[in-house]
Amino acid sequence: MLIDSYGRTLDYLRVSVTDRCNLRCIYCMPPEGVEWKTHETMLRFEETLRICQIMAELGIRKIRVTGGEPLVRRGLSAFIKKLKALEGIEKVTLTTNGFLLGNYLDEAETLGSDSLPDGINISLDAINPESFRRITRQDSISPVNILMFMDRLLEKGIVVKINCVPVHSYNEEEILPLAALAKDKNIVVRFIELMPLGSAAELKPVPGSEVVLLLRNAYGTLTPFYGLGGSGPAVYYSLPGFAGKIGFINAVSHGFCESCNRLRLSSEGFLKLCLSDELGLDLRKPLRAGASDRELAQVITEAAAKKPRFHNLSEVYGTHPAKGQHPDGMSGIGG
Ligand code: SAM
Ligand code: SF4
Repeated sequence: MLIDSYGRTLDYLRVSVTDRCNLRCIYCMPPEGVEWKTHETMLRFEETLRICQIMAELGIRKIRVTGGEPLVRRGLSAFIKKLKALEGIEKVTLTTNGFLLGNYLDEAETLGSDSLPDGINISLDAINPESFRRITRQDSISPVNILMFMDRLLEKGIVVKINCVPVHSYNEEEILPLAALAKDKNIVVRFIELMPLGSAAELKPVPGSEVVLLLRNAYGTLTPFYGLGGSGPAVYYSLPGFAGKIGFINAVSHGFCESCNRLRLSSEGFLKLCLSDELGLDLRKPLRAGASDRELAQVITEAAAKKPRFHNLSEVYGTHPAKGQHPDGMSGIGG
């Protein structure tokens, strides 16, 4: 088992398969993009799978595939199929901007339903095309093209969550229409507080408490809902007459580090211990130098024990907030 020095059991791994992306979301990447990592430095799928297998033997039970935009990487459905087949792994999920979901679903249909993740989180910050374009800095995509995949995913039994990061002066007016997506469909719409990483440090967040007020005024009382399981940072609510649920990830105003169970693996094989901290371990080096599984398991276990107690994204844990750190922003971290 992977247990850190504060007694937290680490059983959730977020795996970034690329730092590349077809969008340039204002809170995640600078307009000019970031310098892409080279193919040589990125882990091959077999290398990532080997690390995941070792980590599954160490107690990882859930894996989320993320990026950059994971769907820009070719062969993703075959990779997900292999991840799902790893002994010990109970759940494999995907976080995507949704733009390439059509191709992905076609490919996954050919490979069989076991190449589909158990859940898909689609990041969508606006339904209004103009607001969507302002946020993603991408002119050729319409949110309608993304929304149309929802039914196809639900038909396949995939749990669908929409992730929205409310940003002052960009998408406050999108909060109600996005929440309304959960009215008729059994999906979850989640609002994630903006974290001041990279270029996001210049933006003004809309705190979760404001979103709650907006929703309450428009749709009625939010009743806590505990049926979605998981020990993650999200809290869930039901709203009168809604088929789906509403969620909040208030990482900045509240924090959830006491029960954090996650580790992150970058596309270059860096095992990152905390979202807001550079601490971690380069696994690519020993992996490519011929380390055995046992040796890799040992260094992973030692590194995991050093997971920091708290993030420093706000003053919630009494630390001085370090704004703008991690200059690449979230695309290099994987969310
Ligand atoms: N490209 C995929 C996507 O957008 O879903 C996966 C990677 S993206 C980095 C993962 C998640 O991080 C997205 O839901 C995105 O909204 C979120 N994210 C990115 N930058 C953020 C920030 N500064 N604060 C809060 N969430 C952020
Ligand atoms: Fe790309 Fe996702 Fe970052 Fe947007 S949030 S720029 S889609 S990696």
